[in-house]
Amino acid sequence: MTRIFGFFLLSFIYMGCGANDEAINKTIKKDSSKISPPITEYGFVLDSFQVKRDTVKANWTMSHMFTSYGISQFDINVAAERAADSLVGLRYVKEGTPFVILSKLGDTSQNAEYIIYPQNIVDFVVFDFRDSVSVEKRSKPNEVNEKMISGEIIKNSNLTLALDQQLKDVNMTEEMAEYMSGVFAWAIDFFRLYPGDEFKVIYNEKSVEGMPYAIGGISSVWFKHQGREFYAFKYALDVEGKQIGFFNEEGKEMRRPFLMAPVKYSRISSGFSGRRFHPIQKRWKAHLGTDYAAPKGTPIVSTADGTVIAASYNSGNGNYVKVKHNETYSTQYLHMTGFAKGIRKGVYVEQGQTIGYVGSTGLATGPHVCYRFWKNGKQINHRAEKFPSSIPMVDSLLPSYIEFIQPIRERMDAMPITPYIEEDTP
Ligand SMILES: [Zn+2]
Repeated sequence: MTRIFGFFLLSFIYMGCGANDEAINKTIKKDSSKISPPITEYGFVLDSFQVKRDTVKANWTMSHMFTSYGISQFDINVAAERAADSLVGLRYVKEGTPFVILSKLGDTSQNAEYIIYPQNIVDFVVFDFRDSVSVEKRSKPNEVNEKMISGEIIKNSNLTLALDQQLKDVNMTEEMAEYMSGVFAWAIDFFRLYPGDEFKVIYNEKSVEGMPYAIGGISSVWFKHQGREFYAFKYALDVEGKQIGFFNEEGKEMRRPFLMAPVKYSRISSGFSGRRFHPIQKRWKAHLGTDYAAPKGTPIVSTADGTVIAASYNSGNGNYVKVKHNETYSTQYLHMTGFAKGIRKGVYVEQGQTIGYVGSTGLATGPHVCYRFWKNGKQINHRAEKFPSSIPMVDSLLPSYIEFIQPIRERMDAMPITPYIEEDTP
């Protein structure tokens, strides 16, 4: 083993120096031929077969693939049937797909022993015609490597375009955008990114034969959105790794469910219902909210992180604030006596942040907050809604978490932002 390694090393140094000693050259050549691995493809040693290559033409079925290579119609039918099996899942062959035909060395008829058809970059189907027909789905060995990328959002660009410049693969861009927006779903509205927003991400890249083809998950992300910095680190709360979540730099969980109520120490004076007798309008109508009665001036808090999309007044709602949390959820807070300082349209608020104060402006009999909960543009009863499960970090885990993220954070902080390259439009 050491000897082989020694020769590799020698040849490396030799090539590196560009020396021209024939004696050394010969020695290396002789030995490297002995140790150079056989050329394999799809796990087959190509030297031990006659190798032919072909490509699926337009309107071909599996039959067309096989007929030229000495396979009987009976065997073709069997092969097609087995390929369609759920274990293999190959029903149609795609035009343009290159496939490989392996025949026995010295067989002048060149009848196929194996036909290998790639389903995608990783998986391939091996048709074995040696004795009885067998069809098997196999996969190329996967490599997983940790990678880092960064980027920026500029005017007339977006996350997809920024990711595309780095990943150069449409599927990987989509996967990455999904992972990132998933982590920050409760913090950043990914449909409204701004010029000047920046990101850095550490992720696993899956590749076969040196070709990257998929994102194997992300492990930490930094995002600057409207000047605010967000960190998220993947962390397992238990040894078995069953409780894995993303947490910010302080150990706060990224996937935060809503607070149960927008006011502390209150009582529900009227629940959500399709029909109730309106105390002021004196008629039956739906109550698409939950009323929390509380003394005038009690702070009203946003029940989750989000962006204020309305802070205004109308005769029914009185002073009200509406917060958009993500693509799915928004919440609305009615009858306020006034807004908290700095609360206006476009402002980012955190879960638990005071946005206004209980009052009885608009159509209200007494001081209360009417809490309205929107899901995909419809008002729903938030108390009946199931939210993503939460895995809060207990205080005792915090020191080891902080220790764990420190070097990762340093690496991320040190990574420069890759500038967005504007395409020249000819
Ligand atoms: Zn109400």
